[in-house]
Amino acid sequence: MAEALLEREHTVFVGGKWKTGRGSERLEVIDPSSGGVLARVQAGGAEDVEKAAQAAGRAFDGWKRSTGAARAQYLRGFARGLKSRKNILVRVQMHNNGKPRLEAEIDVDDAIACFDYYATLAEGLDGRQDMRVDHAGGTHFGLVRHEPVGPVGMIVPWNFPLVTSAWKIAPALAAGCTAVMKTSEMTPLNELVYGDIATEIGLPAGVLNIVTGGADVGVALTRAPELRKISFTGSNMIGAKVMAAVSGRCLPVSLELGGKSPIIVTADADIDQAVSCIMGGVFFNAGQMCSATSRLIVDKSIEPRLIEALVDKTRALKVGSPFEDGTEMGPLTTAAQCHKVLWMIAEAKSDGLDCLTGGGAIDRDGHFVKPTIFRDVPHAHSIWRDEIFGPVLATTTVSSDEEAIAVANDTDYGLVGSVVSVDWSRGKAIADRIEAGQIWINTPQIVYPDSAWGGFKQSGIGRELGPWGLSGYQGVKHILSET
Ligand code: NAD
Repeated sequence: MAEALLEREHTVFVGGKWKTGRGSERLEVIDPSSGGVLARVQAGGAEDVEKAAQAAGRAFDGWKRSTGAARAQYLRGFARGLKSRKNILVRVQMHNNGKPRLEAEIDVDDAIACFDYYATLAEGLDGRQDMRVDHAGGTHFGLVRHEPVGPVGMIVPWNFPLVTSAWKIAPALAAGCTAVMKTSEMTPLNELVYGDIATEIGLPAGVLNIVTGGADVGVALTRAPELRKISFTGSNMIGAKVMAAVSGRCLPVSLELGGKSPIIVTADADIDQAVSCIMGGVFFNAGQMCSATSRLIVDKSIEPRLIEALVDKTRALKVGSPFEDGTEMGPLTTAAQCHKVLWMIAEAKSDGLDCLTGGGAIDRDGHFVKPTIFRDVPHAHSIWRDEIFGPVLATTTVSSDEEAIAVANDTDYGLVGSVVSVDWSRGKAIADRIEAGQIWINTPQIVYPDSAWGGFKQSGIGRELGPWGLSGYQGVKHILSET
């Protein structure tokens, strides 16, 4: 069944029509479990972006003037369309991302929930328009409207295909924006189903356009005159380039960027619960998460017991192909990412860091890295400071909650954080002081569509999900009149 997606010839969806991309490259879609080529697809190019942006521009007025209730019907259609394709989408992610089945299923369910959630917000929009404001003095009144910002350009990464795109497409379409989305060159297939579903549900032509391709397509998006906002998810390095590219036109951007997030374990924590939260936070998706809690900050008094239990469980983690029975962690998705992670591990070892487990590649085909833990990592070391985007945990000890908070906040990033403590109020007091956009207390990294997603400091600009995700695609208009 997944083969139907792997064999796609048309990888550009513009103005409601499928086309063969006009880029210069053929993208190789890799299976990271073997390193073999799953499919080759023709990339789109700058010319496709130009046409897509024009189509989004033409479709904007009609879509903007449709009611929120009408747009909600289409969003529910996207949710249904994803649901009916769940098996295929799961299998493609297992093949192309190396995600274990459960993780691939979570991703598809997350995308479905996102479309359903924004359908509900779109239904509520009509009743929120023209809210009356009675101004002081009584001679004037205002009417407040929430209007779509315009056709939007969207650029997404490869680590959670479907999800990062759903988090943009659903709120943008709900708000009344039209969109041109560029998928990642590493995972170009799954998100094409949004084009299939658009056709199936009769979405007006040009409301959603998809162009597959690499950096040149992203650059073209930042230059398209029809687009009035760029919504980007990816690395800080490319996020900065996107921001610079649109700064000349003062175009608004939202940036969902990287992180180097802390997990704090207090002296009273339950060891089993802490181990489970730590492992989920750094080994889920083989650590390829912007939200990886890759810095463990643990109270000195329980560190030996915690580390012993953590190392035991980490050694027992079954790493393998998603198609092998019992696999708990898959390969890294791309060869480049695998090399980068192995290089960072090798540097840390040559710098004399204490590697408790893991510390290298697994001797088999594919992009497999052993789940790795470095103990007592100096805070100036790159393993402690830089985003690794792989299954690598760095640990440190502290003597108080106060010190834990200071160490947690000593980073350029501020995306997420976790706290594990038997005493909920103590956990909450710490959560209040961590400088990050989402904090989990005594729970794995669950993300609900109505929570806020985004970072402080260099982790980005803006918030996705929740009502904030919707307002990111809206501008407020105030109409003033005499009473
Ligand atoms: P990346 O920055 O290399 O690429 C992201 C996207 O930008 C890709 O589609 C790529 O083709 C495109 N691109 C590359 N050069 C461009 C340019 N000059 N102009 C416009 N677009 C360009 O990131 P990646 O390796 O795909 O993803 C990993 C990064 O994404 C990590 O840093 C991770 O933390 C981050 N991420 C953040 C979130 C979040 O919600 N904060 C979620 C997922 C991933």
